[in-house]
Amino acid sequence: MLEDLFAVADRVVAFDFGRPIGGGTPAEIMADERVRSSYLGVTATDRPRAAAPSTAGPVVRLSGVTHRYGGVTALDAVDLVVRGGTVLAVVGANGAGKSTLGQVLHGSLTPTAGSRVLPAPVRSSLVPEGRALFRTLSVRENLEVAGYAAGVTGRDLRARIDRTVQWLPERVRSRLSIPAAALSGGEQQLLAVARALVADPGLVVVDEPALGLAPALVDEVYARIAHLAQDGVAVVVLEQLLTRALAVAHEVVVLREGVVRAAGTADEPDFAAVAERAYFGSAEPASRAGTA
Ligand code: ATP
Repeated sequence: MLEDLFAVADRVVAFDFGRPIGGGTPAEIMADERVRSSYLGVTATDRPRAAAPSTAGPVVRLSGVTHRYGGVTALDAVDLVVRGGTVLAVVGANGAGKSTLGQVLHGSLTPTAGSRVLPAPVRSSLVPEGRALFRTLSVRENLEVAGYAAGVTGRDLRARIDRTVQWLPERVRSRLSIPAAALSGGEQQLLAVARALVADPGLVVVDEPALGLAPALVDEVYARIAHLAQDGVAVVVLEQLLTRALAVAHEVVVLREGVVRAAGTADEPDFAAVAERAYFGSAEPASRAGTA
């Protein structure tokens, strides 16, 4: 955890993609623009977000969710509401609990304590960190496997895949028979999301969609994810960079050490500053947008 590191270290060296980008005392590191931009993402896209629909109802609601792996508390008393037609970003540093929260929202992990309530039946899809594509299978076969897993076959599956591929860019749509491994990183990420869409979900959780992608591709991936929300899907993205989260999401929840430290929208005055303090460890738990 960053604050633990800053509490014990006399000197800190910060790395970005394997390159040292700054060094000094914890205070100097915290004030270093290159370090802040690397961790907080000040270079993030400024693509305008769509306005959140005012009528969006809750799709999933977490109350008092705590999860422990043995002695490690990954989530601690998390309250969260995800609404249809909305992009909610859960942002936090490594180990903050994002993936655990994503799995609980998706329903694939039963938390140690607390509840996950779906006000109405909804299909949920999770796009895992690292994409988990079948690299030697073709683009179409990856989509077919997702269909089989969702219990869709035959004509229904073909129709589902035809509809899903419309969400992909033309340069992927026109190459459905090439192996997934032959796609670029950004295209593979889009395929991973498309695979999740074959199940026709009302809730999609995408774990770190920007990981390892060049900035232009990150913008494209997020722009297409935003389209899902415009179609009414509840979208949750798990994201490390705060400014990217603020740029792309209707609602932002800052998670640190398994606790929701701040929640709100980029449009709220001062929320960016509140969220930044929460990310690094100097704000109290919050109960604004996104929380119950
Ligand atoms: P990252 O961005 O590094 O994936 P994260 O924010 O997604 O981090 P989680 O992966 O949810 O965080 O992990 C939260 C905490 O739970 C961390 O301390 C992590 O080491 C621990 N943890 C996660 N999965 C397991 C597991 N299967 N067994 C034990 N501890 C785990």
